[in-house]
Parts: sequence; C-alpha cells; structure tokens
Amino acid sequence: MSANVLLVGVGGIGHPCALALATREDIRLTLLDDDRVERTNLHRLLAFDEQHVGRTKAEALADHVERSLGARRPEVIVDRASPDTVADLVDRADVVVEGSDNFATKFLVADACALANKRSVHGSAVGWTGTVLSVVPSKSACYRCVFEDVPDGEAVDCATAGVFAAVTSMIGAVMASHVRWMLRPDAEQEAKLSHFDATTGMFRHRTMKRRPDCALCREARVITAIDASRYSAPLCSH
Ligand SMILES: [Zn+2]
Repeated sequence: MSANVLLVGVGGIGHPCALALATREDIRLTLLDDDRVERTNLHRLLAFDEQHVGRTKAEALADHVERSLGARRPEVIVDRASPDTVADLVDRADVVVEGSDNFATKFLVADACALANKRSVHGSAVGWTGTVLSVVPSKSACYRCVFEDVPDGEAVDCATAGVFAAVTSMIGAVMASHVRWMLRPDAEQEAKLSHFDATTGMFRHRTMKRRPDCALCREARVITAIDASRYSAPLCSH
C-alpha cells in the first residue's frame, strides 16, 4: 500500500526532495506550489533548463518525473498553503513535507499538521546552513517547541541572505531520508533535528525535547485552530 506524501513547496529544497522520492513505488506524491521557474533559480533546480523558464515549478517537475524518470506522475496543485486551504491539504496526506521559504507558511503547515495529527518533515536552507526537523504529533517535540513562533521584524531568509546551491541539494536529500523514517510505523518518538553547515561540511543530529510551555503541543494547548492572524510574515520568492 502506498503512502500519500504532500510536498509543500518545490523550490530549492523541495525540488531535490521530490526527485529523491519520485521513483519510490510505496509513495504517492502531491506537489503544491504556485511559483514559476525563473532563470536565476536554475542552478538550484537540477532537473530544469532554459526550456522550463516561465513554467510552474510543480507542473514542470511532475512532467520530468513522468517522462524522464518513467515514474508515476505526481499529483500537482498549483496553489500555496493558506489558512483557508491548509486543513484540507493536510488531511489527505500521511506525511507532509514542508520545504517552503518563509516562516508564515512553515508555522501554518506545522500548526495544521499538529491539529490534524499528521507527521511532518520541515526543511530550511539559508546562506551556508540548513536544517531538517521531523515531528511525530502528540509524541515528539513539535515545530513550535523548537522554533517557537513567526519571527518579528526582519528575519534572515533566502531573499536577504541568499543560499548556497549545495546546501539546498543536501537539505532536500536529507528531507527525503527523514520521510522514509517517518513512514515507518515504529518511528521513534523523539523529534529529530539534522543541521548541515557547508562551511565545515559537517552534519549534526540532535534529539529535541518537548517544551513544557509550548502553545501548540502542551496538554492545555493555546493553538486549537488555524487563525490567519498568526501567519502574517511577508512571503519571499523561491
Ligand atoms: Zn510543541
């Protein structure tokens, strides 16, 4: 039986993650992204070339999976996760992989997964470093246990700091390996955080503990529904 894996964002880190998962027969992929391929993205989108510029990333990637890899075509949703749609999107998935490039979407997806009791894998890459966090709801630490809340003011993100293409490829591959781990019914109960630093070439893996005062996963949770006002940080392009 195959598992439904929803990939939120198929830019720099979601793209290599999708390629790593696409040929697995035990996974049915859904690609969610409304962004288009730009010439300046091509060095991070390894399956694409000049001919793909202007196409939507999700549709172009699904075509590549089907025609060039000979694998089952992923389902494509040309959209982005929003407070209105996220619950339905998450509900259809067994595992949600969040590779978006902005904190608003990251916290939105994390909250929706926790509320729907869905396992999730969250990746990010900025500058020379990247992280991957896996969450088993109601068992492990959650995304908010580790990152707490959408940052106020000017957060360092891909738009301001740039990102080294080797980091996005590496983080996408690690996200795919976390998915494999999350599909196991006996996945450990600890949230696993992988951190890669391209300046040293080193990976570090840590087990994260639940935060007793976490708004999302403590027994008397504060966050009990998706409230759009919590996710107001600006978006940036892939
Ligand atoms: Zn928590």
